[in-house]
Amino acid sequence: MYILFLGPPGSGKGTYSRVASELMDIPILATGDMLRAEIEQNTELGKSAAKYVTSGELVPDDVMFGIIRNTLSREDMKNGVIFDGFPRTLAQAKMLDEILSNMNAKIDMVVELYSSDDEIIARLSNRRVCPKCGRIYHLINMPPKVDEICDDDGTKLIQRKDDKPETVRRRLKVYHKQTAPIIEYFKAKKDMFYFNISTGGPPKIGRNKMLKVFREHKII
Ligand code: ADP
Repeated sequence: MYILFLGPPGSGKGTYSRVASELMDIPILATGDMLRAEIEQNTELGKSAAKYVTSGELVPDDVMFGIIRNTLSREDMKNGVIFDGFPRTLAQAKMLDEILSNMNAKIDMVVELYSSDDEIIARLSNRRVCPKCGRIYHLINMPPKVDEICDDDGTKLIQRKDDKPETVRRRLKVYHKQTAPIIEYFKAKKDMFYFNISTGGPPKIGRNKMLKVFREHKII
């Protein structure tokens, strides 16, 4: 099964895709995490992506095409993938359709997550992530058991550089201009299941809504 999680920065794509991945036992392909790992390791790809990621702009499509082609050719991606953060432009959406069709596959489900811009700005200022395993926390709504320490591996949590309010505002602008239009592209498709959930409230409520839809459609 090939599933997309779409939504603005901070709408919960990382959190919800992890829940779905555990329940369905499908690997996640999170392009933001991949780019941050490349930047951390100071690879050639990381060096060329850094300026876009830190300023909240999109990494150019041709760079993303290379990453996606390489990753989808991996053996563990052959039976399904949960995409978090890809596609983000119409060209990326079309390119993904083409690669999957060459694999005799298609996107089976799109889950759109939405929140208001004000909720997102407030939420991202309290977001912390584990730099080792990628687990996401919220200091108030989803705090770790021990202050600023990852529950899973004891690593000190960090705040992403691009979670500063001015960069968040830039990311939201980029989302509304370049990414939001692809929602209509997917909604117009008749061969896949599309649904959306508001993730504005406490994480438990949105998560339960998602699980209810999955159960009703016999996805889990
Ligand atoms: P969020 O959805 O919270 O903004 P991500 O971790 O998905 O966070 O992405 C962080 C940054 O990585 C983006 O602002 C962008 O610079 C870059 N990025 C991630 N995925 C893509 C993509 N599919 N196309 C272009 N840039 C991307």
